[in-house]
Amino acid sequence: MSAGAAAELFRSAYGRDPDVVASAPGRVNLIGEHTDYNGGEVLPMAIDRRTWVALGREPGAVSRAVSREVGDAGSFTLATPQAAGAWWDYVHGALREVRTTVGDGGAWAVAVVSDVPAGAGLSSSAALEVATVLAAAHLTDPATPLAMPVVAQLAYRAEREFVGVPCGIMDQCASACATEGHALRIWCDSGRVAAVPFDRQVLVIDTAVPRSLRGSAFAERQAACVRALKTLQRHAPSLDVLAHASLAAIESLLDGEDRRRARHVVRESARVGEVVEALRTGQSLGPWLAASHASLRDDYACSSPELDWVVDAAVATPGVEGARLTGAGWGGCAIAIGEAEALEVLRARVMEDFPGRWGHPPRSWRTRASRGASIDA
Ligand code: ADP
Ligand code: MG
Repeated sequence: MSAGAAAELFRSAYGRDPDVVASAPGRVNLIGEHTDYNGGEVLPMAIDRRTWVALGREPGAVSRAVSREVGDAGSFTLATPQAAGAWWDYVHGALREVRTTVGDGGAWAVAVVSDVPAGAGLSSSAALEVATVLAAAHLTDPATPLAMPVVAQLAYRAEREFVGVPCGIMDQCASACATEGHALRIWCDSGRVAAVPFDRQVLVIDTAVPRSLRGSAFAERQAACVRALKTLQRHAPSLDVLAHASLAAIESLLDGEDRRRARHVVRESARVGEVVEALRTGQSLGPWLAASHASLRDDYACSSPELDWVVDAAVATPGVEGARLTGAGWGGCAIAIGEAEALEVLRARVMEDFPGRWGHPPRSWRTRASRGASIDA
C-alpha cells in the first residue's frame, strides 16, 4: 500500500491526477486507558499501517469520495452540517473543519486507500480524518502549514462534533504527532506532547468480539467519572479533572463503583509516567502492563473473558515482557510487548487455540512505533 495506490484510485475514479496525497497511521495505546477523557496521561504509538488520502479540487459545490476498502462512493456538500451515517462522514467532517479554520477551498474529490483494519480498535477513523485534514489544509493554504497538534485538533472535532463519537483526543493526536521509533506521551489536560524512545516490538491481538455492549457501558463509565469528579470537587473546588484527584480523597469521599472507577483513572494516569521512567532506565514493562490490565478488569470492569484469556496466554509465554487489554475494552484488542521471536510463538499459539476456546478466529498484527502523518506526493 502506498501513495501511488491512492493516486491510482483517484485517477481511475476521476480521470485526472490528484493535487496532493497525504497519509496518517493507525495507533495502539501502550498504557493510560480511560484516562484521556479524565484529563490524564496516555502513551500511544503510531503503527506501521496507514491510510492514504489523494485529494483534488472539484468544480461546483458537490464533493465526492471513493474508498478502495468500502464499495459505495459518497457525495456531499460542505455547507451541509449533517452527517449521512456513511463512511464519508469522517471525510466530510474533516473537510468542514479545514474550511472553517484554514479557508474555503471549494469542493473536493477524494480517494482513500488503507491497510489499517477498520473497526479493530487501531483507529482507522483517526487515520482517515488526520490524512484528510492534512491534505486539504495543504491545498487550501500551502504557504502556512498547520502544526501537527492543530491537525489533530481539527480531526478530533470532526469525529466528536460531526460524526458524533464521544472520543478523547488521543487517537488523532497519536496519528498526527507520533514519530518513528517513539511512543507519544500526551498530557490530555493541556494537550502537551513529548516523544518517548520506544524500539520494542508489539503484538496486537484482536479478539474480534462484537462490540455491542461498548456504547452503553462506555457512556456509563463516563457518567461515573463525571459524578466522582463532582463529589470530589465539593470538598476540593480547585480540582479540575478526575485524573488529578488524590487517592486518599477517593478512598475517603467515594464509595462503590464510583470509587473503583476513579481509583483506576488516577492510578492508570500515574502509570504513564512510571512506564516512561522504566523505558528510560531499560526496565521490563511487565509489572505496569499487569497492573494496568488488573485495574481495567477489576476496578473499571471493561475487560472480557477473551481478553483475559489472551493476556494470560501472553504472560505465560517465555520472552514476552507483558500484556494488557488496549483500547476501550469490552472485547477488542490486547497488546503484548517483548522479543520478536517470543511474540511470534505467542501469536501462533493464540491463532491455534483461540478458535477452539471461543468459537471464532482472532486477528493479529506485529508492529513497531512508526511515523505520524505526512504529505507524501
Ligand atoms: P476504528 O477507528 O477503531 O478502526 P471506528 O468505528 O472508529 O473504528 O472507525 C471505523 C470506520 O471508519 C469505518 O466503519 C469507516 O466508516 C471509516 N473508515 C476507516 N477507514 C476507512 C477506509 N479506508 N475507507 C472508508 N472508510 C473508512
Ligand atoms: Mg475510531
